[in-house]
Amino acid sequence: MDADVIVVGAGLAGLVAAHELTSRGRKVALVDQENAANLGGQAYWSFGGLFLVDSPEQRRLGVKDSFDLAWSDWQGSAGFDRTEDEDSWAVRWARAYVEFAAGEKRSWLAGHGISLLPTVGWAERGDLRAGGHGNSVPRFHIAWGTGTGVVAPFADHARQAARDGLLTFHPPATAWTSWWSRNGTARGVRGTLLAPDDSPRGVASNRDAVGEFELTAQAVIVTSGGIGADHDIVRRYWPERLGTPPARMVTGVPAYVDGRMLDISAEAGVRLVNRDRMWHYTEGIQNWNPVWPGHGIRILPGPSSIWLDALGRRLPEPCLPGYDTLSTLRHLRTTEDIAPYDHSWFVLTRKIIEKEFALSGSEQNPDITAKDGKAVLRDRLFGKGAPGPVRDFVRHGADFVVADTLERLVEKMNKLTDAPPLDAAGIRRQIEARDLQLDNSYSKDAQVQGIHNARRYIGDRLGRVAAPHRVLDPAAGPLIGVKLHILTRKTLGGIQTDLDSRALGLDGRPVEGLYAAGEVAGFGGGGVHGYNALEGTFLGGCLFSGRAAGRAAAAQTA
Ligand SMILES: Cc1cc2nc3c(=O)[nH]c(=O)nc-3n(C[C@H](O)[C@H](O)[C@H](O)COP(=O)(O)OP(=O)(O)OC[C@H]3O[C@@H](n4cnc5c(N)ncnc54)[C@H](O)[C@@H]3O)c2cc1C
Repeated sequence: MDADVIVVGAGLAGLVAAHELTSRGRKVALVDQENAANLGGQAYWSFGGLFLVDSPEQRRLGVKDSFDLAWSDWQGSAGFDRTEDEDSWAVRWARAYVEFAAGEKRSWLAGHGISLLPTVGWAERGDLRAGGHGNSVPRFHIAWGTGTGVVAPFADHARQAARDGLLTFHPPATAWTSWWSRNGTARGVRGTLLAPDDSPRGVASNRDAVGEFELTAQAVIVTSGGIGADHDIVRRYWPERLGTPPARMVTGVPAYVDGRMLDISAEAGVRLVNRDRMWHYTEGIQNWNPVWPGHGIRILPGPSSIWLDALGRRLPEPCLPGYDTLSTLRHLRTTEDIAPYDHSWFVLTRKIIEKEFALSGSEQNPDITAKDGKAVLRDRLFGKGAPGPVRDFVRHGADFVVADTLERLVEKMNKLTDAPPLDAAGIRRQIEARDLQLDNSYSKDAQVQGIHNARRYIGDRLGRVAAPHRVLDPAAGPLIGVKLHILTRKTLGGIQTDLDSRALGLDGRPVEGLYAAGEVAGFGGGGVHGYNALEGTFLGGCLFSGRAAGRAAAAQTA
């Protein structure tokens, strides 16, 4: 045997599983198709948003949260409707995960040295129904150090375990891998050795085969991530309920998030479920300074930008900025006259961008990633203007235009698209009607109501939601137009697993010795989120399911 357990995929889920194993003295072979510079996978690039329930951070900000409220939100968002079949384990994972988020998660993170910013964001505000999709309260906690800081303790532990002889980065070059079984029991992995590649982290690496390899162990844990970099796979599983897939999308994940292992596992007899459930964003912008092919960045918007479709009409509620990701995607892709176009627009003011634009990604938040408290205070709390990375996008980004008048702005927006020209007069009418709603502290406009509502939460009022103002007020300007693309990110379905992260076969029974965790397992159970996510739940899903896989495999190999 080459190891007690082989872990395929050195992202967060794989590192957490490896941590559980090596802490219990098990020998681990860690296999990845990327070089060691990429340790931590997507999580390294992530914003570090973490879903927690009834935390001290929430309480300090006056947020009243509870397991009951979070579980109600989760069920309303998930809409589990395959409970006898594809959702049978997902529902159990969901409940266990919300219990984790409302209980042990925070102290477990602290035990690994991961701390949180004092502010709590309100992501996925929802579809405006008490029992529907969305977070009733702010729950998006940001790790100090962003996703880079979440990965760090597990990556450090892996390096230490390697020095202690408990973990081997296998093979010395990178490898494309498939697991194999004997008599129905997973016993190892085999694959293709790839030529050495010293590309920096995140940059697409070679796929030149230079040989074959095989490793044996008592158990295999698959933590190979999702599908977001392969647009063909995204389109293949794109569900009819979301209309037609866009012809052009930007890519929110590195090239190695290629989804290959899902098909490999299906061919080997593992049960894949809920592949039609995905999580792609509608506020993607082209990165002016790309790391991976087609690199897109997601704007995490506050609620005030005017959102227009490709023909210049305001989107209907609940398709408001930061409210309901998949309702917005569905609206854009199923409305007949706009579905042929792959974009929509934000129109906003300088005042809005200064307070409300956050960019997802560790490299877009260098102050938090570097744990530089002074820079955070200087740039975000006391600083004037938008944070530096946002300013860079306004200056260099291909999707941004700036102008002093709406007519000039629309002229510039029209130069960014082949769609029928936007009509400045029509857009002016809609914005003027919206601006007239601002004279009172109440309104009949759902978006304006949402702005007032958000500002009753101190976290939003201080740091996230601009004071209500007329978009056409020159003092709030200049005006900014942003062309938004669909950005691919996550699969919500995957390998079906039981609560010990044991992968299930086509007969619904565990495949002996085989485990799956993280995104490849739909973050647990083959689809813990159901149809919709509450955000900040993906990193946590890797931690929770990776931990379960590591513990169960350690028990099996005792
Ligand atoms: C920019 C960005 C921002 C994000 N922000 C957040 C956030 O704020 N909060 C949140 O909860 N989530 C966020 N996410 C999502 C989250 O980071 C990912 O869903 C999660 O990290 C996935 O981890 P994983 O371990 O399952 O897979 P991955 O990180 O994708 O790791 C899988 C690894 O397996 C390897 N691999 C794949 N196939 C093979 C094979 N056949 N052979 C060998 N190796 C293979 C890959 O090379 C990779 O290293 C963000 C993601 C991105 C990209």
